[in-house]
Amino acid sequence: MTLTEKVMARAAGKSQVEAGENVWVSADILLTHDVCGPGTIGVFKREFGAQAKVWDPRKIVIMPDHYIFTADSKSNRNVDLLRDFAKEQKLPYFYDVIDDPNGQWVFDVNQGPFKRQHGTKYAGVCHTALPQKGHTRPGEVLFGTDSHTCMAGAFNQFATGIGNTDAGFVMGTGKLLLKVPATMHFRLEGKLQPGVMAKDVILHVIGEIGFDGATYRALQFDGPGVASLSMDDRMTVANMAIEAGGKNGIFEFDAQTQAYVDSRCRLNGTKSTYEPVERDRDEKFFYDKVVDLTALEPTVACHPDPGQRKAAKALGHVKLDRAYMGSCTGGKTSDFLEFARLLQGRRVVIDTFGVPATPEVVHDLQTARWGEKTVWQILVDAGVQMTENAGCAACLGGPVDTFGRMNQPLKCISATNRNFPGRMGHKESQVFLASPATVAASALRGKITDPREFI
Ligand code: SF4
Repeated sequence: MTLTEKVMARAAGKSQVEAGENVWVSADILLTHDVCGPGTIGVFKREFGAQAKVWDPRKIVIMPDHYIFTADSKSNRNVDLLRDFAKEQKLPYFYDVIDDPNGQWVFDVNQGPFKRQHGTKYAGVCHTALPQKGHTRPGEVLFGTDSHTCMAGAFNQFATGIGNTDAGFVMGTGKLLLKVPATMHFRLEGKLQPGVMAKDVILHVIGEIGFDGATYRALQFDGPGVASLSMDDRMTVANMAIEAGGKNGIFEFDAQTQAYVDSRCRLNGTKSTYEPVERDRDEKFFYDKVVDLTALEPTVACHPDPGQRKAAKALGHVKLDRAYMGSCTGGKTSDFLEFARLLQGRRVVIDTFGVPATPEVVHDLQTARWGEKTVWQILVDAGVQMTENAGCAACLGGPVDTFGRMNQPLKCISATNRNFPGRMGHKESQVFLASPATVAASALRGKITDPREFI
């Protein structure tokens, strides 16, 4: 069996499963957020009754993160609905925007978008925050009401996005009927060269198979090249499995996975036991490909979909209006450090927005010092508009007052993960997906630029 089949077989209580088979799978964690949480709760209450209790309060994680720092009252109200539900069900893992359990969330526009407005429990973008808060464990099954839930496959688990109806059912029963996906195998060899990042790996893979090339398939990443990828790198790769239509992405377990998971579970007092899955000799793959990391170059996915792969060096004619750093994919600490490495001592020439994925990333950047300055200050001095209000922000467009949202038909280079028309706001805008290094180099030139020109 492949890694995905092994996790699903175990979660289904079977010794063996095959691609295409339908199995009832037990969930280890159900994740939801402010956009889909209220809908999921509505389905749960409608189907199981107004007084029903969730199947296991310790297995439900609620992380508001999407439409948070906005004056839009309906968006604010969504966070309040989550708070009411968490209180009613006594859910220990609700990462509220505010600290007062009886309060109401209101974003104060008079304070502006830059200074922190959230409380101490707030976790930030769910997919980045989930591992930070100790909720991702090897060998487990994670369901989330968000397509990029697949990011947790970096931790050797089966992680996939589901809709509100399925999530309402999981909330009541802890189970879901799933078809076992066939696995597409990507054996990583070699090592990334300077200026080339994990984002380039996944943009290369999606370019190879197309934005629907892995529809309802598992993407398995393994091989000797994985060892040189950090957990952040693996998260970036697994995150975008869905951008090729994948059901999930999954990595092999190794010492790095173990060190990360163990430390995060310990730090947060979450469940610390788990059983990773290892590769079998008899894996059957639907597709098999070797990816030579050494040969990869800075890559861009052009408008209008993540499969429009081009080399950054071939796009120097594309003039830009804006650069955007952030999201679950491109807003991690390591992403911002690489971004800052190129920007240090230089100045961007186009509007450039920086939105850390989580408050922990904000803290890292505000405390890491390079010489006299913090990394945060280096970015601000380079002209980047940095907000302390970590979250999804303009990655998904959002209400019109969302920080960094494209309210006009602009061209933007972005460290985010999706660029279908209208994704970041205006439906005639164009988004070019790239690594943090390529976003930095392009922000310095005002046109798409290969970051190796600055290295
Ligand atoms: S940062 Fe973007 S891709 Fe990630 S969860 Fe938020 S909206 Fe979705």
